[in-house]
This record gives sequence, C-alpha cells and structure tokens, in this order.
Amino acid sequence: MDIFFIFLFGLAIGSFLNVVIYRVPLGKSLITPPSSCPKCNTKIKPIHNIPVISWILLKGRCASCGKKISIRYPLIELLTGIIAVLIYIKLGNFDIFYLFTFGAFATLLALCMIDFDYKAVPDSLNLLALTFAFFHSPEVLENFKNALLMMGGMSLVRYYVSYFLKREAMGEGDIIVGGTMGALVGIKLAVLSLFIAALLAIIPSLYFRLQKKEPELPFIPFLALGTFIVWYFDSYFEEIWRIIYE
Ligand SMILES: [Zn+2]
Repeated sequence: MDIFFIFLFGLAIGSFLNVVIYRVPLGKSLITPPSSCPKCNTKIKPIHNIPVISWILLKGRCASCGKKISIRYPLIELLTGIIAVLIYIKLGNFDIFYLFTFGAFATLLALCMIDFDYKAVPDSLNLLALTFAFFHSPEVLENFKNALLMMGGMSLVRYYVSYFLKREAMGEGDIIVGGTMGALVGIKLAVLSLFIAALLAIIPSLYFRLQKKEPELPFIPFLALGTFIVWYFDSYFEEIWRIIYE
C-alpha cells in the first residue's frame, strides 16, 4: 500500500487519539457529543477538523471565537502519522498484525500524553494496549507468556524496592505497560527497553532536580519511547544483547 495513504490513515487515527486523550481521563464518551470549542462551545465543522491542515489554515485558533488551540493537537496527529509510516516500513505489510502493532503503539502514545497531564493513566487504555500487543504477531501464546514474565518480574522488583525504600516504587500502571513491552519485543529486548527508558529519563530528571522543581516525572513516555526504539531496531539490539551476555 502507498506510504502516503498510510500517513493519512495515521493522521486520522491521531485526530481520534486527541479525543481519547482529552475525554477518557474525564470519563466522557468518545462518540457523543461531537467535538466542540471548549470556550464558545461551537460544534467543530468537518472542514475545520482536517488533521494538521485545519490547524494551520485557522492559524491555531477557533474558527468562531478565535480562542487559541494548542499546537499539541496537530503535533500528536503528525506524530501518529509518522509512527504509522515507520511501522509500515518496518513490517512491510498492511495486515491484521500491522493494525494490532500500530494499535498498541498508538494507544501507548495516548497513555504517554495522559501520563504527562495527570501523572496517572486509566486502566482501560492501558489494558487495551496490552491486548493489542498480545495479538501483534501470530505467536500469540509466546506474546502472552512474555507479557506475564515482564509483569511478574517488574512486580517482584517493585516488592523489593518498595520494601527497601519504605514507599511505593513504580505504579501499577507501569507494570501493565511492562506487560505490553514484553508482548511486543520479547523478554530480552523488553529488559533492554527498560534500561533505555531509564537512560532517557536521567537527563530530564537531573534537570528537574537542578531547577528544584517537582521531581515527579511521568515514566510511561520513556518506557514507550524506549520500547519503540528497541522494537524498530530489534536486530541491532539483539546483537547488543549477544555481545553483553554471550
Ligand atoms: Zn471557540
């Protein structure tokens, strides 16, 4: 299938993700009512709801009241479009496994944004990402087993660390994301993804410490980014694993 259509498909899903990111944490329906401006409540016309393009043509403002619309909306659409294309380049097919893989990563993207906003994520979306990940390849049982191992291993680490720190380490949400990681890339690469996520998180957390700002950093964005990098370059990371352990 043409890359351009995959990109458009990704943009459309990204537009839907914006609705998911806004409405799911508030417990609102995804279907009704149709999107409207949060300030003037005017229903957004289909012509003003074209991913990225409408935002540019309207110069980032509501068509009726002129209220600024965050650049985050077109950026999420664009990012989803890029992720859709990258997954297509990697898999080379637009089939059911593509849809489950893309579904898992797109849901992870929504979880990242919600984690940024609320420092917590809804179980509904977290379990949806995990479910997509079970079916992302024909080896469903293997994926399921890898998810269980990751979730079990992370729970174990959590018990130990919480005991020694005398406070709750890692959220339950992170453990479900761990299951998604295990199902998507397998145990070895999921462990590497965790390691990369921790490395990616060092710089911003040092920055927050130095700025003496609130140190609570959302961790799911790092987990998701680490997993996507490792999934995309899996053969390189398999090689790294071999060099380290064999
Ligand atoms: Zn408005």
